[in-house]
Amino acid sequence: MFDTHCHLNFKTFDGKVSEVVERAKKAGIRHIIIPGTDIQTSKKAVELTTQFDNVYAAVGIHPHHIYSYNVERKTWNVKKELAEVEKLLTHPKVVAVGEVGIDRHYYDKTKYTEYRIDETFINQQKVFLRLQIDLALQYKKSLILHNREAKKDTLSILREVWDKSIEGRSVFHCCEPDGELLDFAKQHNMCIGVDGDITYRKDKQEFIKKVPLEMLVLETDSPFLHPEPLRSQPRATRGPNEPKNLKLIAEFIAKILHISLKELAEVTEENSKRLFAVT
Ligand SMILES: [Zn+2]
Ligand SMILES: [Zn+2]
Repeated sequence: MFDTHCHLNFKTFDGKVSEVVERAKKAGIRHIIIPGTDIQTSKKAVELTTQFDNVYAAVGIHPHHIYSYNVERKTWNVKKELAEVEKLLTHPKVVAVGEVGIDRHYYDKTKYTEYRIDETFINQQKVFLRLQIDLALQYKKSLILHNREAKKDTLSILREVWDKSIEGRSVFHCCEPDGELLDFAKQHNMCIGVDGDITYRKDKQEFIKKVPLEMLVLETDSPFLHPEPLRSQPRATRGPNEPKNLKLIAEFIAKILHISLKELAEVTEENSKRLFAVT
């Protein structure tokens, strides 16, 4: 199996990445992608890939963290900030730009004081997204898209900058259950990323039945989004979500799609390898 999205570069995993990767391997998860969310976590992702086989990085600035350019730095130069991302793109284990996108969700828990979503902020997210997609095209990398409550903005930018060369190389990570997103993905040969929340969200359980199997990729989004039954366990004992739990997600999906775990594991692994052009 292939965990296409987990943040082993986050603080929760400091000093524990080796054991986490080992446990993943034992559970049958042989490939892992670590996406960056800002410059620091992108660098960390790249650094981690050098320590393990079959662990790859994506680099980029997450829309939520565009906020640091919005408020905390009065003057900023997008191209200069992105030059840092660009430098990392030449590393052989960097397979994608990500995670990048548009996010209109209001986060209660955020390091940014007085966090608010206004059109200035959204416009800055759009500036960064366009340029980061350009980088993916320029460096021939795959693209990990984060869209949260911002379907219209995301799709309009994708329609604007879409290029044939990214066909088959991009994914709506943690895809919202939405017919319009699925139609766009079908028309543009994209993948749909599915996470542990499918184990308790009825809307996602219905949605996945409409997703062609050849578009499906799995992800844990560790340390977030524990699948059931872990989600219902006390926070203190369950620990952070981690790649080995991809197996729980796969088992659940295989059951609702009425296919074997083996078939689901094989198909999604193949899809993921194609998506990120890894072997
Ligand atoms: Zn995301
Ligand atoms: Zn993420």
